[in-house]
Amino acid sequence: MTDNFKEVNESYTLPEAIREAQRCLHCKVPGCKKGCPISNDIPDWIAELAKGNFGNAMAIIHNRSNLPAVCGRVCAHERQCEGNCVLAKKGQHINIGKLERFVADFDSQAGITHEAIPEKNRGRVAVIGSGPAGLTIAGDLARRGFAVEIFEMENEPGGVLMFGIPEYRLPKEVVRREIAKIVNLGVNIHLNTTIGESHTVDDLFAQGFDAIFMGTGTGVPKRLNIPGINHPGVRQAIRFLRRVSLYENGYIPLQDVIVGKGDRVFVVGCGNTAIDAARTALRIGAKEVTVVYHRTVNEMSALRAEYDDAVAEGVKFLWNSSITSVQGQEGATKLTGIDIDTEGTTTHYPADHVIMAVGSAPAARIVSTTGGIDVDEKGYVLTTDTPYGMTTRPGVFAGGDVTNRPATVVHAMHDAKLVAEGIMQYVDAIRLLRHINATTPTPDEPAMTLAPRVPSA
Ligand code: SF4
Repeated sequence: MTDNFKEVNESYTLPEAIREAQRCLHCKVPGCKKGCPISNDIPDWIAELAKGNFGNAMAIIHNRSNLPAVCGRVCAHERQCEGNCVLAKKGQHINIGKLERFVADFDSQAGITHEAIPEKNRGRVAVIGSGPAGLTIAGDLARRGFAVEIFEMENEPGGVLMFGIPEYRLPKEVVRREIAKIVNLGVNIHLNTTIGESHTVDDLFAQGFDAIFMGTGTGVPKRLNIPGINHPGVRQAIRFLRRVSLYENGYIPLQDVIVGKGDRVFVVGCGNTAIDAARTALRIGAKEVTVVYHRTVNEMSALRAEYDDAVAEGVKFLWNSSITSVQGQEGATKLTGIDIDTEGTTTHYPADHVIMAVGSAPAARIVSTTGGIDVDEKGYVLTTDTPYGMTTRPGVFAGGDVTNRPATVVHAMHDAKLVAEGIMQYVDAIRLLRHINATTPTPDEPAMTLAPRVPSA
């Protein structure tokens, strides 16, 4: 891996972290906590950090988060905790993300926290997918006495954390460290295992799992219907980022990344994935990278800080602009050019690659091989509010992007925490029912069962 992919943001030193923590006012009604989607007890762990009690700070963070080193790096702090800090009004908010990152990194490096692993006697849960939602569910359930097994189709766990977010924002070693902590809670991970192909959800139930969680995300990119869009020079951002990640980890050579040195690249869309793709293309060696967005800078969904960094690194932006056609020779891997409409005027640009980052939808793999899981018209899985997150198939739960609820890593984690509660309620209830049905035989009456309530869209 080249230095281009090194993490861009510096960490605090120990004295810097303590000094920053000591600025916190420990507010009685803390805006920071209110702004955090998982209600992290921010003032409490900052107070422990200010006194140098790193282990206590870590323990408080772990009460709400299984992935603090990740959240400390990739959360939208400016819109959440830091944006709601009382000191933000003076432009002096506490750097909560950087402090969280410091606590998590310091704890891992010093090996301070050793959690007691509870006995796994409350039931067995299968988790399909090891992205932020799957890891959160696994950690929460393992801490509460459930035997959890994760089934992951890739050769490494982490989902979008490992294969979607670039190294310079979230180093793979950090993700591996966070996953190791979850494994240490007694969670088993099966790699290279695609549920919906070699194994089905029914197979998992037949193996004795009490509940199954689908956290399979949205792996099918959306497409634009414009001339030339199927040319091989048009790439999907999530697949481009995955290839770069495979290259960074030594699984594929640089030439297999496709986008290469000296290329002129256009990225369509302006969310965080688009910015990640643009900045990554520059790091791979692209000569020019331009983001094309049909709205204005104030309407982009990307974080302002990510946008500012992209501008500083040399990424260009075309606002109020839409790509209208793509040109390239048949059989070539590169394009020759593209047409872009900007406020009614069409301009031709020479281009080698277009990277599409206009959203993605769930894959139908599991739903199509499992009876009884209803989806909406766009393919998102429908779930109930009671128990939270259960699909129309009893015992099968879903959360994260596959349900069309969360938008960011921390929102996926928030949703997953609620689903974990739903799974606990369900498994406790069915085990109790099984016990009742087994110990009080009533031959004239049917056995009691649990069924989901009407799903919410
Ligand atoms: Fe500290 Fe800001 Fe939270 Fe107040 S709002 S407790 S100052 S981080």
